[in-house]
Formats: sequence, C-alpha cells, structure tokens
Amino acid sequence: MSTSFLFQDEEFLGWWPFLREFILALGSEIMEEIHCVEQFFIKIKSLYAFVSQVCFFVLVDLLLEENENFDNEKGDKSVVMALTSVLFYSVFGYFVSRIKDVFHRQRFQLFRSFLTIEHLVTWIFKVILEWVKAIVIVLCLREQGLNYQPSLLYSILTFLYYLCSEKIFVETLPDLFEMLSIEKFENLEHLYVPMAMNFFTVLAGTVVSTYFLLVQYSNFVLLSVYFLVYIRLKDIYYNYWKLLIVEREIFRSFRIATKEEIDSWNDICAVCLTAMSRARITPCNHLFHSHCLKRCLKSSLLCPLCKTHFLDGNSEIKL
Ligand SMILES: [Zn+2]
Ligand SMILES: [Zn+2]
Repeated sequence: MSTSFLFQDEEFLGWWPFLREFILALGSEIMEEIHCVEQFFIKIKSLYAFVSQVCFFVLVDLLLEENENFDNEKGDKSVVMALTSVLFYSVFGYFVSRIKDVFHRQRFQLFRSFLTIEHLVTWIFKVILEWVKAIVIVLCLREQGLNYQPSLLYSILTFLYYLCSEKIFVETLPDLFEMLSIEKFENLEHLYVPMAMNFFTVLAGTVVSTYFLLVQYSNFVLLSVYFLVYIRLKDIYYNYWKLLIVEREIFRSFRIATKEEIDSWNDICAVCLTAMSRARITPCNHLFHSHCLKRCLKSSLLCPLCKTHFLDGNSEIKL
C-alpha cells in the first residue's frame, strides 16, 4: 500500500473541508475554554500573585547563586527561601492593608466612632502576631538546618517584585497617584498605574527566565515563562489595556454641554451634588461634571442617574 494513499483517496478529499472546519472549530473552542480558566486564575488575585512571586524568587535565587548545576537539592533550598521571603513580605503587606483600612474608615465621618484605642491596640497586636509567626517559621527552618540568609541584592529584587505584584499595593498605589492629580493620567490612574506595575513584573520575569532558557533550560523555567510572562501579558492586555481604550472612547463620546444646555438643565450634578458651570452630556441626555463622570466610569459603565449602559447603542466601541 502506498504511504500517500490518504491523499489519493477521493472520498477522503471530499471529506477534508468538513474535517478541517471541525478541527478548527474544536481548536477555537478549546482555546476559548483555556482563556476562561486563565482569566479565572488571574481573578483570584492572591493566588495569581503568589504563584508568580514564588517562580520569580526561585529563579532569582538560582541566578544569584550562579550554580552551574540545576540539581534538585539546590532547587529545594531556593523554594524554601522563596516561600520564607513571601511570608516575611506578606507581613509587611498585611501592615499596609491595615493602615489603608484605618484611612478608609476615617474618610467616612459615620464610622469615625468605631476607631477607638481598643481597635488600635488590637491592630498592633495582630501585626506583632504576624511577625512572630514568620520568625517562628524561620527558627523552625534553622532547626532543620535551613538558614534563611538572603543576600542584599536578592532582598531588593524580590521585594520590588513583591511590591509590584501584590494585590494590596496594586490597589493602593493608584490611589496615591490620584492624590497627586497628574493631568497626563486623565483620571485613569486606576488603569495606568497597575499596568505599569504589571509591566515591570513582566520585564523582570522576561530577563530572568530568558537567562535560564539560554543557559540552563529546565521544565521549571518553562513553567515560569508561562506564569511570569505569558499570563501577566494577558492580564495587561485583557484587564487593563482593553478597558483603558474603552473608557477613553466612551468619555470622548460624551459631548461638551453648551451654556444654554446647562441653563436649561437647571439642576446640580447628580454625582457630587454641586452646581455646574461646565458639563458633559451622556447619550441618555444627562449632564455631569467631566471629572465626576470619569470617576463613575472607574466603577461601572452605567449612567449614574438612569443606569443606561454606555456601551448600548455605541456599536463602535467593543470590550
Ligand atoms: Zn459633579
Ligand atoms: Zn442617564
């Protein structure tokens, strides 16, 4: 029988277009499913951050040790080192999240009464407890003969990576930038700042994993490329970049209201409840301050007054 009998078979050639279509449809269906799973993974922010932190910390440790052989024992030591570092840094993360809580509560007069000396003492005790937990683990590891003595460069690199990938900092830094009210950001700090932080992690991940891909390839390195580069680039594209384009487009689609329109509106801005001398008009014919509209777009794409979806009837903008 000839080896190329398949291509000579007329019956098969008749079926080929259908088979090809089926394979392509199945392929795109599978890709869609994988995309959904990856997006779900990204949504579990603490796990998403933890996995990339551990991968990055392990690679940095191996890189700084300059060990020629990627043996198992060395790998285990690096993993323990990475986990311990994450543990220590998470105490700092916990500390910052509690401070954020306190500031957040103080912003609302209503809850001010809740912030008592008792709360402060509980809070301090909790932070101390977290530190004690971390120290006890380090002491236990020392008992096992594993010394936690990170070099200065390791600490700097891993801590910077931790700052740029941990949920609490990714959420808090945009707020700090917002306070500076830099014009260039067009009130989109909540997208620009996390995108820049994510970009830094991708850059750092790319540099470290490229080195290992070229010098000492292993399955772990391949897995790291997936988590440190591919998934993070996906996060930037789908969860920040696309949203950035949509928010900018939507905002541009709001016409600036004329003096007559503001006069005939004869009402206050429904967001900040103050009078308007300048305003923008939404497609549902409601007037708001520009900055108030931008602020609302951050939380949802619905009109703050009548809850019309801004993407409805705006067929040119696609999410
Ligand atoms: Zn307003
Ligand atoms: Zn409306």
